[in-house]
Amino acid sequence: MTTSPWQQELKKCVKCGACMAVCPIYRQTGREEMVARGKLNLIERLNDKNELPPGWIEAVDLCLLCCSCEENCPKGVKITEIIADARYRQTEQLGLNPIKKSAFSLLKNRFLSLPRFLKAGSFLQWLLWRRLPRHSGLVRRLPLPGLDDKTVIPALPQKHLDDYLKKRQTPTSNLKPVIYFPGCATRYLYPQMGLDLLYVLELLGFQGVVPKELNCCGMVTWGAGDQKSNQELKQRNLEVFRKHSDIKEIVTGCASCGHALKEYEDLPQECEILDISEFLFRHREKLEELVGTDKLEKKITYHDPCHLRKGQGITSQPRWLLKLIAGENFIEMRHPERCCGAAGTFGLSHKEISREILAEKAHDTDATGAEIVTSGCPGCLLQLTEGAVVADSKWQAEHPISLLADLLRKGVR
Ligand code: SF4
Ligand code: SF4
Repeated sequence: MTTSPWQQELKKCVKCGACMAVCPIYRQTGREEMVARGKLNLIERLNDKNELPPGWIEAVDLCLLCCSCEENCPKGVKITEIIADARYRQTEQLGLNPIKKSAFSLLKNRFLSLPRFLKAGSFLQWLLWRRLPRHSGLVRRLPLPGLDDKTVIPALPQKHLDDYLKKRQTPTSNLKPVIYFPGCATRYLYPQMGLDLLYVLELLGFQGVVPKELNCCGMVTWGAGDQKSNQELKQRNLEVFRKHSDIKEIVTGCASCGHALKEYEDLPQECEILDISEFLFRHREKLEELVGTDKLEKKITYHDPCHLRKGQGITSQPRWLLKLIAGENFIEMRHPERCCGAAGTFGLSHKEISREILAEKAHDTDATGAEIVTSGCPGCLLQLTEGAVVADSKWQAEHPISLLADLLRKGVR
């Protein structure tokens, strides 16, 4: 295996152990090689000897790339970059997991494969899955390998966001265009979330342009160590952004997409990536006027998506938004910053530990007495829905933009 190009960065770690206090994997396992300090040590040892130290593969694999350690690291070590790079070098040598390989081929072949595959699944899903009585999402009907009866998958819709957009009449005059980057989850699994976001943009005087050539942001391929696919997806998106370079703002409602897009090195000049909460905060005067005194009547709480809080440093804007729409009914949970354990495909590939992490989040959510837990990341929302099922709780998981859109639809003035 090749040595890490992050030699200098690895040397910045002073072994202080500050990362131990915040690592969800370490909290569950108590094992030194599971925390950033231990992982970096193993990665460095490979550099010295060029042979895999025992436990290397497990240590590199068992990481949520949640950035909690980075946020707490006094030396600012780029821990997630180093771990993702280690996965890349491991993948180069040992090959990519065949399931991930097939999934990424589908992702890259969006026009031919992914939408068709998911639409076919939307007709067949009822054979194997049933709808949850109190929640969105599906659970299995029959035993399925690797999935227990509390694993929640999203109900596959028959229409994707693109299908709705084809028929949507958008009043173009007087609206300022912004690019809306929905991300795969919103585009193919939660189209209503995308329509909600576009609706709010329009009320604020903006037209969300969704170029159909947009691809996956690449986050999932980066996390899996498939840098070739990651680069390919990135370049395709950059081409789309360049084609629309007269539009300077690119808005997304997905924390992971926003984090990935902000890492693109060659964005067109003056082009800016904005999470929807950042965008709305910029236009807060107009939004506050639109919302007026209307407030949600249900109690809500908030889970910080790792890719929003630790990846992009966004914490105050979503809270401003939630206070605007729920007022006193917005209640902070204990440890909103803790990862929910989803982390892309981690929740599927490491079910047991992901569940243990999720159980803590479900407990903190329960303790607020909230009826709705919100989060600006579709991946977290799916995991939180599973959390409610596992904890046998009644709360729903919703994106703040959907709550806002509902409120505005009721009282639009
Ligand atoms: S907090 Fe940073 S410097 Fe300290 S041990 Fe962890 S990775 Fe190393
Ligand atoms: S990224 Fe998260 S899971 Fe991975 S080592 Fe850091 S804190 Fe632990």
